[in-house]
Amino acid sequence: MIKDTAARKTIIDIGLRMYTRGFVAATDGNISVRLNKNCLLTTPSGISKGTLHEDDLIVMDFSGKVISGYRKPSSEYRLHTAIYEARPDVNAVIHAHPPLCTALTVAGISLDQPILPEVVLTLGSIPTAPYATPTTEEVPDSIKQLIPHHDAILLERHGTVTVGECCESAYNKLEKLEHTAQVMLYSLQLGSAKPLSSKQISELIKLRDLYAGK
Ligand SMILES: [Zn+2]
Repeated sequence: MIKDTAARKTIIDIGLRMYTRGFVAATDGNISVRLNKNCLLTTPSGISKGTLHEDDLIVMDFSGKVISGYRKPSSEYRLHTAIYEARPDVNAVIHAHPPLCTALTVAGISLDQPILPEVVLTLGSIPTAPYATPTTEEVPDSIKQLIPHHDAILLERHGTVTVGECCESAYNKLEKLEHTAQVMLYSLQLGSAKPLSSKQISELIKLRDLYAGK
């Protein structure tokens, strides 16, 4: 079980980092942490992630019922609850609107091609979930098939979802994702984004399995 006060501090710190790095604009994005088997702590609707205070955060159960907090929950909370239900190993979820990742999906460019060895090792493949109307049930539905197998997903014309065993881990995946999108953009501007060869990829998968103790 994660301590409520520690989780509040972490969410505020991560929110500020997300805002400062430009991964969210205005009041976009949301962050949550699983507190225990009954509830999660999450950012509210309508507040910049750069100016959050501890008492802005909301404790809710997995059906979306607010347990404590005086603000309104984010309209995207279902994305978070659906992930916690599908992934018992996940204790933090971050939804952001990083501009390069989002722009790639608008341009129809997939990040699901292995271009960087480090990313193959850490994130694996990066799928794009099909377009879904923001704030509706379509958003959690769009990632349903992907979330059991992926920790970092692009949402077409919308943004990203990253998950982790803690908030820091979910944030690092978001930062890595946007960096990968930046490298993809630069590569395409310079001529082409050549993928790793299948031999290089199988070497990396062997290494990854070794690290994971498989
Ligand atoms: Zn969004």
